[in-house]
Amino acid sequence: MNRTLWVTLVGIALSAATPAVARALRAGSSARCAEDGARLAPRRAVEVEEADGRAARLCGIECLERRLHRTDRPAPRSVRVHDEDTGALLDADAAWFVRSAVVDRATGDRTHAFATEAAARRHAEAFHGRVLPGPGLPALRAAKEAR
Ligand SMILES: [Zn+2]
Repeated sequence: MNRTLWVTLVGIALSAATPAVARALRAGSSARCAEDGARLAPRRAVEVEEADGRAARLCGIECLERRLHRTDRPAPRSVRVHDEDTGALLDADAAWFVRSAVVDRATGDRTHAFATEAAARRHAEAFHGRVLPGPGLPALRAAKEAR
């Protein structure tokens, strides 16, 4: 195969694939919160396994708290949040939560999750925060106990 033909074939393949690639990228960037439809930011998104086993993604911890305060839905089976320091997913029941002066620009959230109590206390001290009784999120504990 000569070089010109090869380049032409690659060009045709790329132009044919472009609409599919563009659609895939748009789908990824337009992922929305299951509670309020807000755009999801990868390191703020909360991963919920609902009581019926379905997965839901929420835009942030305070959005999760609003969802948990609604008594018309059963408590989720499990919730995972991102560690503020590393971005790693943590089981919310084992994480430590801090409300502080640090406001997430996308969600307006002032609540942050940490893998350890020590990390939570460091953040609280540095940013005028308050460590919530833990480990775990009080609203999630309450929802599990009540329902
Ligand atoms: Zn939300």
